[in-house]
Amino acid sequence: MDTKKVRVRFAPSPTGPLHMGGVRTALFNYLFAKKNNGDFLLRIEDTDQTRYVEGAEDYIIESLKWCGINIDEGIGATGDLGPYRQSDRKDIYRKYSDQLIESGNAYYAFDTAEELDKVRSEFEAEKKTFIYNHTTRENLNNSLNMTEDELKAKLESGEKYVVRFKMPLDRTVEIHDMIRKDVSFKTSTLDDKVLFKSDGMPTYHLANVVDDYLMKISHVIRGEEWLPSLPLHALLYEALGWKESTPEFAHLPLILKPVGKGKLSKRDGDKLGFPVFPLEWKDPKSNEISMGYREKGYYPESFVNMLALLGWNPGTEQEIFSLEELSSIFSIERVGKAGAKFDPEKTKWFNRQYLLNKPNCELGEEFKSTVLNKKGISIEPNKLENIINLVKDRVDFVAELWEQTDYFFETPSEYDPKTLKKAYKDGTEEILTELIEVLKPIEDFGVENTENIVKEWVGAKEIGFGKVMNPFRLALTGGARGPHIFDITNVLGKDETINRINKLIEFKNN
Ligand code: GLU
Repeated sequence: MDTKKVRVRFAPSPTGPLHMGGVRTALFNYLFAKKNNGDFLLRIEDTDQTRYVEGAEDYIIESLKWCGINIDEGIGATGDLGPYRQSDRKDIYRKYSDQLIESGNAYYAFDTAEELDKVRSEFEAEKKTFIYNHTTRENLNNSLNMTEDELKAKLESGEKYVVRFKMPLDRTVEIHDMIRKDVSFKTSTLDDKVLFKSDGMPTYHLANVVDDYLMKISHVIRGEEWLPSLPLHALLYEALGWKESTPEFAHLPLILKPVGKGKLSKRDGDKLGFPVFPLEWKDPKSNEISMGYREKGYYPESFVNMLALLGWNPGTEQEIFSLEELSSIFSIERVGKAGAKFDPEKTKWFNRQYLLNKPNCELGEEFKSTVLNKKGISIEPNKLENIINLVKDRVDFVAELWEQTDYFFETPSEYDPKTLKKAYKDGTEEILTELIEVLKPIEDFGVENTENIVKEWVGAKEIGFGKVMNPFRLALTGGARGPHIFDITNVLGKDETINRINKLIEFKNN
């Protein structure tokens, strides 16, 4: 039995805001760790300094925090196997690059960008694609084609070089992927990837493998876009003498666009009006703002719940899961390999479920602090809870409560013209004036009593119900909207109810 401690890492590159696909990768790593009593690490892979974006690392940490994804070790936490930022580990990698050269698994390549461009266009002229590998390496400017003295001279003169992996010839690399099962790759079609660059920094491939080994990572769970790198990584473990420590791999399915084909992109979000980032992001160079789930009013619990079901399924009909629950039932075996279609409407639906589950007092507090306080409206907590209870099944977000409840706080000063035309006819003024007289003596203005008295009167008068209720509703809400009319009068109270009827009559007569 394998008793190796489960240790997984999320290893983003700080090249911009973390996409929701990245959050899902972090989430699946986290859930796998929690399920297996393991550790979840955060490592920052910033070896490509040209793509570094200011603020991206903080954004990653804040996003994970907002989602409730707790970091056990690494950036944003502590740990004994650090540093956990690759640019702070710069001195570690050269040794492994040298080791690979010495064992014949890698070589120095001195080809300049111009030289490579030239070869590339020569290939293109013959309608062929240039690959730096066993078919071409013998004719290029690298240490495989030099005497030891020539190489020594070049290195001593300070000529710029990169270190390339010498991809073995005619091998089939067979690896087990926890999601894709057995996968195999033929090395003859692969290229001699750069492992170490002339700026003294390793590339992603070398740093990633070295760090996973040194940080004792047991399982690598990452996006499908890294599957093509898998044979190289497996061969690197082997070449470095770490074959026995090769982690298990799981390549997660893509997140697909809501409509059409292909990967979900920021542009789809802009087009259809939904966020693709967990938090709002302001680009430090262009100042362009990208919307975030947090700022749009999504609860982190609902965002995480939605993400968990993008590619994973519980095997039951259940859809609502807390992070704790997910942590106890998650399994990689239930992650599919087919792309998962993102559904923005379903995402809102999730938020609505979480909203409906919150106690009214909590929603009231949220509504107060995000909307009412800013408008200078104060209201008794009981009354507010009552109002929220009446309308909460009509919204997806707390911010939407205002458009459903404004008339509870402000007497309408305008009336929806269409409703006015339909509901206020000849004779309406008389009906409303009489209604006021019916309401005036009512002592118990509660929902049922008021409803009974008004209905009795309407019945006795033998006029259609709508002839009374439509202008009545118009007076109370300014339109044809709102919940049950006597729920509204109950909240407004007798004086304000009568006041609003009078106001409508006045408005009509002016
Ligand atoms: N730095 C890589 C990324 O940005 C990590 C890939 C991996 O997990 O190996 O996604």
